[in-house]
Amino acid sequence: MKGQKVSYKKEKAIAHINRVEHYLQWEHSVEVEYDRDGTNEYRPNLSRIEINSRQNYTSRLHTLLHEAGHVILRKGRVQQFEPKKSFKKGFPHMKTGGSDVRGNWDHRIDVLREEVLAWEKGEELAQYLSIKLNKKVWSRHRNEALKTYVKWI
Ligand SMILES: [Zn+2]
Repeated sequence: MKGQKVSYKKEKAIAHINRVEHYLQWEHSVEVEYDRDGTNEYRPNLSRIEINSRQNYTSRLHTLLHEAGHVILRKGRVQQFEPKKSFKKGFPHMKTGGSDVRGNWDHRIDVLREEVLAWEKGEELAQYLSIKLNKKVWSRHRNEALKTYVKWI
């Protein structure tokens, strides 16, 4: 971006994104991939998070934190939650496909619970990594995302 002004906000968001990426790499061996058609999801079997690169950097940061929240829920760490076994115990009706499959009520409720908790974990992770979020923008993004799941259920 030679000769172009990069806004402070954008620069900061990029620095924060890098911090989350490093955390994911070192703590969980999870890679982050950006794609214009990316689906914004964590693929546990590939140890990869896919992020849609059409969103602005603040949105990318929020989405990445949320997906990292899924990683923490499923693999543990950042305080509480023991790995794996606890996830299965905590989400007994979850099927391997997550929201790709539309199961019975029990399953759908577990999917919704995981979505809500992944946003909460993402917020905890931001705090843990000293990333200061704009709470208003963050909660609007979170609620928009949760709304699609509430409709799906
Ligand atoms: Zn999610």
